[in-house]
This record gives sequence, C-alpha cells and structure tokens, in this order.
Amino acid sequence: MKYCNSKHICVTPRGAGTGLSGGALPVYGGVVLGLQRMNSIVKVDTENFQAIVEPGVINEVLQQTVKEYGLFYPPDPASKGTCFIGGNIAHCSGGPRALKYGTTRDYVLNLEVVLPSGDIIWTGANTLKYASGYNLTHLIIGSEGTLGIVTKIVLKLIPFPTQNSLLLASFASPIDACRAVSSIFMGGCSPSVCEFIEPLAFRLAADYLQVAFETPETVQAYLLIEIDGNNGELIAKECENMYTILTEGNCLEVLLATTTSEKEHLWKLRRSMGEASKKSTVYKEEDTVVPRAQLPELFAGTKTIAARYGLRTVCYGHAGDGNLHINILKDEHSDAYWNHEVKEAIKEIFRLCISLGGTISGEHGIGLVQKEYLPLAVSEIQIDLMRNIKRCFDPNLILNPGKIF
Ligand SMILES: Cc1cc2nc3c(=O)[nH]c(=O)nc-3n(C[C@H](O)[C@H](O)[C@H](O)COP(=O)(O)OP(=O)(O)OC[C@H]3O[C@@H](n4cnc5c(N)ncnc54)[C@H](O)[C@@H]3O)c2cc1C
Repeated sequence: MKYCNSKHICVTPRGAGTGLSGGALPVYGGVVLGLQRMNSIVKVDTENFQAIVEPGVINEVLQQTVKEYGLFYPPDPASKGTCFIGGNIAHCSGGPRALKYGTTRDYVLNLEVVLPSGDIIWTGANTLKYASGYNLTHLIIGSEGTLGIVTKIVLKLIPFPTQNSLLLASFASPIDACRAVSSIFMGGCSPSVCEFIEPLAFRLAADYLQVAFETPETVQAYLLIEIDGNNGELIAKECENMYTILTEGNCLEVLLATTTSEKEHLWKLRRSMGEASKKSTVYKEEDTVVPRAQLPELFAGTKTIAARYGLRTVCYGHAGDGNLHINILKDEHSDAYWNHEVKEAIKEIFRLCISLGGTISGEHGIGLVQKEYLPLAVSEIQIDLMRNIKRCFDPNLILNPGKIF
C-alpha cells in the first residue's frame, strides 16, 4: 500500500467476487488485491463469545466452525457458501436471518485495517460496548473497500439456537402475501426468516437445479417463514399463532417442512434464485428496501412500472426487512431498448421506493453499477460529506476509485 500510495497506483480489494454492484472491479486498472489466502480463523474465544478471523474466511466455513462450539454467527447471505467475511463487512451484508438477528454490522466488534497510506490501525476495541470517540468500525463497515483494507476482524457470537420450524405459505394474491408480512409481527410473532417469493423464482430455481417443485396456477406468491429458538413447545405455539394469522390473511395453504431434507430442499431453491435468474436471461437485480408495511405498495408499483416498459420482473427477498430483490429480465428485448429503457424503469422504481420511505440498496451496496442512482436517494450535502471522509482516509484517491460516487 505504501508503494502504491507513493506512486499513485490504484488498488482494488477483492474478496470472493460475489458482490452484486461491481465493487471489486478495477475500473481504473492498477492492482487487484485478492484476499482469498488470508483465510484463517485465528481464534474462537468461547469465554467471551468472540471469533477473530481473517477477511478471506468463507461465511459458511465460519458458521460451521463456531457451531462446533455451540455458537452462532447469524449473518447468512444466500451466497454464504462462497462469499468472504471481508466482503460481507465491506457491504454490510444481510441475508434471510438478518430479520431476527441483524446484519453484519451487528456482529463486528473491532477491525484491523490497512489504510491507503500503509498505516495499520485497529478501529475499536474487543468489547460489546464502545463509546470512545467516533465509531470508525461502523464507518468501515459498508464502505465497500474505499476507505481501507480489512485484514482482521473481531466478531461477536451468540449461542446457537438448537431448534427451528420452516413453513411455506402460499397466496393467490401477492399483495395479500406482502400484507401478511406486517400482520405476522403485529400478531406478536418474531420469525427468524420471512422471505417473499414469486412462483416464477421457484420455477427458475427448480429448472436451474434440475429438481422438482410444483407451483399450482392458483398460487401467485409464497412466504417462506422460519421460527427458531431452543424450546420446541414455544416454537410449536408460535407456529400455531402464525398459522392463524396467515389464514386470516387469505393464505391458501401452509406447509410445514418436517424433515431436514425438506428444509434443505426449500433453502437450496431459495438460495439459487439469483443464479437461476441470471442463467435464464440477461437480468438486472435491484435491492430495494422500504419500511415493512409499505411492501404491498412497492410490489404493486414495481409491477405497474415494469408493465409500462414491457419488462418482465421476478421478485423475491427478505420481506420481513422490507427488502425486495427485483430482478428485471431482458428476455427478447434488443440491446438498445434494454440499455436505455431499463435505466428509466429502474429510476422510476427507485423514486417509488424513496417516496415510500425506503432507499435504493438494503444490502448489496452501490459500487459501480448503482452509483448513477445514488443522488436519487442521498442529497448532494450527504455525498459531499462522504467525499470528504474518503479524502481524509485516502488523499491520493488510490483505493477502489470510481465506486459509490
Ligand atoms: C447468488 C448470490 C446470492 C447473494 N445473496 C446475498 C444475500 O442474501 N444478502 C447479501 O447481503 N448479499 C448477497 N449477495 C451479495 C454478495 O454475496 C455479498 O455482497 C458479499 O458480501 C460479497 O462478498 P465477496 O467476498 O464476494 O466480496 P467481493 O464481491 O469480492 O467484494 C465486494 C466489495 O468488498 C470489497 N472488499 C472485499 N474484501 C475486502 C476487504 N478485506 N477489505 C476491504 N474491502 C473489501 C471489494 O472491494 C468490493 O467493493 C449474493 C450474491 C450472490 C452471487
């Protein structure tokens, strides 16, 4: 870093390359700093419920390792089998369980960071509380590799919840499914997962994985709901309460996955939806997020906008967080139409999202591909503040240039 800084050579940190906003692409050339070999789990501290890891540790490897100690690292992006903890920090990644357990941010206590100057700092302390000046840890989280390179991470762990139930509720109306999301919480339930899924997403994933999954014509939307904890009786009671709420919310049917293989089958389908959409056609994924109760308006408005542009969409995502992934499919449209019209459609969807109190990315970041839309969500004053923070850390602007703004 010292050498690159002195010679003004750009450096782009790269984790597993699963990011969805082009953040790890070296658009101005220079050095791509691959972090995959910094992949040790340095320590699992079972007294303090902490883990010290390097940035190239795969999310799922960490989860499996700490589980052996009865501990839980909850953030679980659908890409958990490949993405790195360093990348998760750079994007403040979420995933289905963010609903109950929070995002990556909620599990990071302290970071070792190499600054663009080559200086090395620790951003905080290995403590559960921190009130000693500006919180640099939280500034680095979500900074998309533009302020420093994360080289060591102190994570908070919690006890592993030993039991869970997984429900699949089907609806004739996607709007009813979106409305049911708020009703679940208003009815006193606190699921660990509440995912909205359009039948097309299930069908694409089933084709992609070459497995069977029936989606009856009457079904227009699903909610995939998990309830977890350590007390089987309490979980069963919460399932009963959930069933009542869903039925009152016009649900057609609630299926309970009874075996581990049924649960795994549903999860595998859910986690393959992004890849399956990509395989079916060229697509553009948007990561909209609104306050949970505004989800029905976001879904309905998105479909209206897409129909006006003659674009097909497939939606799924972390509905309990109000976080809807909208995949816009190119299908047979010409490149010219796609390249111009899809941008206009995206702007309208984002404006809708913002008018509902939401924003343009919940967990995928801005990176390269969303930066032209950032001014829709963030004022010029805010962007200026971000630029000034960037200059403080990186006066020569060598670290991951061309990203966010
Ligand atoms: C199929 C699929 C499903 C996904 N599901 C989810 C999901 O459910 N939830 C979710 O939040 N995301 C999801 N993602 C997005 C993606 O997996 C996450 O953003 C992930 O955190 C990226 O990690 P990575 O290691 O691949 O990072 P990369 O793509 O390599 O890099 C991402 C950014 O982080 C920076 N970076 C990487 N390592 C470091 C480091 N050590 N220090 C500083 N900067 C660094 C890079 O410069 C870049 O800007 C999904 C992606 C795919 C392909």
